[in-house]
Amino acid sequence: MSIISREKALTGPEGLIAAGFAAPEEAEVLGKVAARYSVAVPAGVAALIERRDDALGRQFLPDAAELEILPHERADPIGDDAHEAVKGLIHRYPDRALLKLTSVCPVYCRFCFRRERVGAGTEGMLDAHALDAAFAYLAANREIWELIVTGGDPLAVSPRRLAEISARLKRLDHIKILRFHSRVPALAPERVTDELIAALRASAKTVYVALHANHPRELTQEARAAIARLVDSGIVVVSQTVLLRGVNDNVETLAALMRAFVENRIKPYYLHHADLAPGTSHLRVSLEEGRELVRALLGRLSGLCQPVFVVDIPGGHGKAPAGPDYWRREGEGWRVEDWRGKSHAYADPAAPAGRKSRAP
Ligand SMILES: *Cc1c(COP(=O)(O)O)cnc(C)c1O
Ligand code: SF4
Repeated sequence: MSIISREKALTGPEGLIAAGFAAPEEAEVLGKVAARYSVAVPAGVAALIERRDDALGRQFLPDAAELEILPHERADPIGDDAHEAVKGLIHRYPDRALLKLTSVCPVYCRFCFRRERVGAGTEGMLDAHALDAAFAYLAANREIWELIVTGGDPLAVSPRRLAEISARLKRLDHIKILRFHSRVPALAPERVTDELIAALRASAKTVYVALHANHPRELTQEARAAIARLVDSGIVVVSQTVLLRGVNDNVETLAALMRAFVENRIKPYYLHHADLAPGTSHLRVSLEEGRELVRALLGRLSGLCQPVFVVDIPGGHGKAPAGPDYWRREGEGWRVEDWRGKSHAYADPAAPAGRKSRAP
């Protein structure tokens, strides 16, 4: 059993300086960053950081660049507010709703798209009144087939409270799928106890965990063991990764990460273009570069290892696939590009003879 959770996390400039992650003269500016956007680096995560500008340091250590907020960056980058049905419950797509169970995380990612809503000074777990309203809404809206439980990090909530949530969901028979989005299995694996797993499964529904991990070094032996416990229990684990400058913006790292997922029985699900969260431009990769990286994964990696590259459209319009295009119209048929970049003609005999193509 790890002792990570019992050790204090680094949350401010003093701790960061003492740990050698910042110079004493940076105390003031890092204090400003930490006052604006919460910092928490648990001891187990700090131990993975070799240099402050390595793939782990860039994700978790505050940086003066976060104070630079660009005009197109937004406090609510993916437009959650536009679809908030009741407090904490976002209903953007007809068949699935998203419950922001808590605003607390074991670690605060510097690129977080909800960074204005998570961390110190926020409310923490939804209170009883808000939960009642959320469950009343879920009960009344029978088109909701899937509930996505997120936050913050829902696996930062105690197993006892998660078991209560599961027990209430059990009574809503139209909800078939329960999906938890979390960083806990990788970055706080000691929390993945039998008790937690039982709590996640207590609804008797099909349970998915979407593990957020961005670099293969996050998948330590302890993390792999925690993931194995989840999968062995019957929970399906998928991945979500944010494409980040200086973290995973090269083919080798992305390939190693996707392979590590598959080796650990995690199906790669999404690779996210970083959202336009305030003060995150130093971590963002251009869409163009992202598309080229995704193109380079095709053919090089097993089909099992291919994530879908997505952008969350600002304003609350949902996710759109953003990967490269391999097909274009040519006359009555098509041209398709293979994984080596070679182009081929493709006839489409299934197209009804004589019908005019509606190529652009
Ligand atoms: C991302 C998101 C979902 C889930 O989308 P999937 O494509 O099913 O993973 C659902 N609701 C909201 C509000 C979201 O932002
Ligand atoms: S764990 Fe998720 S919600 Fe929490 S800071 Fe990281 S990206 Fe944001």
